[in-house]
Amino acid sequence: MASNRAMLNAFMARDFLSVPSKLGVLTRRPLRTSNLPGRSRSYASTSKSKTNSNYRQNPNPGSYGPGKAGPWSMPRALALSAFTGFGTYFWGIKGTERNPALEASTVHNLRDIPVYGSAKDMQNAIHEIRDLLGDDAISTDDEDLLLHGYSEWSTTNVERLPVAVVYPKNTQEVSVIAKTCHKYRVPMIPFSGGSSLEGNFSAPYGGMSVDFSNMDQIVAMHEDDMDVVVQPAVSWMSLNESIQNTGLFFPVDPGPTAKIGGMVGTNCSGTNAVRYGTMKDWVINLTVVLADGTIIKTRKRPRKSSAGYNLNSLFIGSEGTLGLVTEITLKLAVIPPETSVAVVTFPSIREAAAAASKVIRSGVQVAAVEIMDEVQMMVINKSKSTKKVWKEEPTLFFKFSGTQSGIQADIDTVRAIAKDFNGGEFEFARTIEEQKTLWSARKEALWSMLALREKSGDVWSTDVAVPLSRLADIIELSKKELDDLGMFASVLGHIGDGNFHESIMYDKSNPKERAAVEQCVHTMVDRALEMEGTCTGEHGVGLGKKEYLLKELGVDTIGVMRKVKLALDPLWLLNPGKIVDVISPEIH
Ligand SMILES: Cc1cc2nc3c(=O)[nH]c(=O)nc-3n(C[C@H](O)[C@H](O)[C@H](O)COP(=O)(O)OP(=O)(O)OC[C@H]3O[C@@H](n4cnc5c(N)ncnc54)[C@H](O)[C@@H]3O)c2cc1C
Repeated sequence: MASNRAMLNAFMARDFLSVPSKLGVLTRRPLRTSNLPGRSRSYASTSKSKTNSNYRQNPNPGSYGPGKAGPWSMPRALALSAFTGFGTYFWGIKGTERNPALEASTVHNLRDIPVYGSAKDMQNAIHEIRDLLGDDAISTDDEDLLLHGYSEWSTTNVERLPVAVVYPKNTQEVSVIAKTCHKYRVPMIPFSGGSSLEGNFSAPYGGMSVDFSNMDQIVAMHEDDMDVVVQPAVSWMSLNESIQNTGLFFPVDPGPTAKIGGMVGTNCSGTNAVRYGTMKDWVINLTVVLADGTIIKTRKRPRKSSAGYNLNSLFIGSEGTLGLVTEITLKLAVIPPETSVAVVTFPSIREAAAAASKVIRSGVQVAAVEIMDEVQMMVINKSKSTKKVWKEEPTLFFKFSGTQSGIQADIDTVRAIAKDFNGGEFEFARTIEEQKTLWSARKEALWSMLALREKSGDVWSTDVAVPLSRLADIIELSKKELDDLGMFASVLGHIGDGNFHESIMYDKSNPKERAAVEQCVHTMVDRALEMEGTCTGEHGVGLGKKEYLLKELGVDTIGVMRKVKLALDPLWLLNPGKIVDVISPEIH
């Protein structure tokens, strides 16, 4: 076991697919704001360590950073690689001894550890893609690398970046990229809107980010069939603007800058999920490029099918670890004739949460119900995202939709329930415009919080979901623990689905603060799991939630996931390090 551990360390410490000298420059230089759509951020905080605490247990292979002499420092890596008999440019483990006892207890044994290409292989892959797809198809620009490997919004970042970013224009080009990366054993990390929050697109093993921004077309609109075929970089918001005149819309609404490819990746949802369901409910078929460049289509175009395995569900939520999604057929819904948005405050977060659960249990089909604590209401007021000044108390936002008479009946029922839980008067958005701004204030809550930071700092924004009956309990307890932290922190969420979020502003470089925040989040997730909930209702696992996924589902279920991964991507090239570890956690 000891030698396994040493080999594991050597494997985890290698860095030949990233560019250390560039990384050094990147982590020190304040960068200009990006002009990529939806990615306008200040990178002032990039000078700090972005290593996440979760990697203390599962050390991040790239977290050596300039000037850092941690356990995974380059000299140590080289010493270990020499010890295990590998050449300087070789990344991975070959010819590992078999350990039958270990193999019996794990579904993924050491022989399966991938061997990635050398720096030379990486350069060859870049040249080959350039030759095949043109100079513009690939970038090694520092700023591009940072944008594709680091996110200010994410709970987890690593200090390694992709080595190149490749911009395919169609499915065939994606296939060419995958074939080339397969040939040279280069990791591929798909990237669409870059708004995911759990380190989902970071590049802990270096490799190539596959950015779909040149694939942003609506391919076909089938109005009578109520579906639309899109490329992965179509954003859900621009899709809805484009098809507005048809009377149809696409109801899944995650972060404002999210794009369909990434939304498939995280099986996202949003405020409309309580009425319309999550991403998995709206995908008819997918075109997917597999790790070796093979192109498949999961289904044809009927709204339902029971033909064979449900491959849609396999790829949806797989965070790019099983395939690169290049075309998606989506169901569309009819735009409701009327909508109304109301806001009601409660004396406590518990009463607000309990009222929301009761509304859902009553059978009223609200279009959405969102909870925001007093801190979030203060954020809305301070950010001046709406004209009105709201009471800074625990609040429910309701959206009603349907016919005028139906909406009125729903409002009456909900008002009565709210009263039972000491809710105040309903305040209605007076115009469609006011409805929109109020809702976008809710959707942009994270950005508004970041904008209000007094000094640069980090955000931990994460979600869990529990069965409806446990919602009031978990929210009340979690809110109390957040308050006890004494930091700028809030609770909000898609409460109608039992899904809520904590956002905490903190200084990651302050060990005391960091430990306190980690403990608070760990307690919340543990509590959700104890309540038969999930470690993530919608953000996905990425890097940030891997240890919880194991806790939630257990070794055997994770083992099945790993087998699926190995079946589709035996070289472990697609978004390695996400959802399940390359190396089985039970051997750590
Ligand atoms: C302000 C804000 C609000 C948010 N609100 C919500 C919310 O209400 N609900 C919610 O669910 N989420 C929310 N999010 C999170 C985020 O918007 C979602 O996770 C969204 O689904 C990510 O889409 P994206 O296009 O940005 O994906 P990316 O971040 O680009 O990628 C997400 C994952 O999918 C993979 N991927 C990307 N493209 C492809 C592809 N073509 N093929 C295969 N895999 C791919 C990536 O490798 C990555 O693992 C919010 C984020 C922000 C910043």
